[in-house]
Amino acid sequence: AKRADSGGVVVIGLGRFGCHLAGSLARMNREVLAIDRNPAQVQRWSAQLDRVVQADSTEEGALRQLGVTSFGRAVVAIGASVEASVLTVLALVELGLPQIWARATSQKHAKILSSVGAHHVIFPEAETGDRVAHLIVSRLLDFI
Ligand code: ATP
Repeated sequence: AKRADSGGVVVIGLGRFGCHLAGSLARMNREVLAIDRNPAQVQRWSAQLDRVVQADSTEEGALRQLGVTSFGRAVVAIGASVEASVLTVLALVELGLPQIWARATSQKHAKILSSVGAHHVIFPEAETGDRVAHLIVSRLLDFI
């Protein structure tokens, strides 16, 4: 597979965060490859997203077979399982993905993700909490 940087994004883990992320990217006309190990989640999102596949993302060989290496970016949206999240980042690093984004649920989780090789670590819950606090304090909500 060719290494493209066409703006395509691999989204791994279709929980609440991952499915919103994948949906937004698709609406922005980005090519999205969505991966989840749970067949029920895959079934649930297959109508909304072009490419949703069932696979265990901790398996480097499975990711390679799905053509993940032809994407320039991947987001690991798994939150609850630190082990699955870390092993998935490791597999993406081994595959040489140029831009790996990973979701952390704690500072220690974030440290591990960075040391394994994630390029960007994000905290969706903390970031949304901060943003809403600022919205409330700036009284923007008064005008809605
Ligand atoms: P959210 O808050 O976004 O709903 P969560 O933290 O409640 O997420 P998680 O347990 O992190 O939920 O799982 C998010 C998704 O990641 C689930 O749909 C789960 O099936 C998927 N997932 C977990 N481990 C793997 C794995 N090894 N391979 C692929 N998908 C996985």
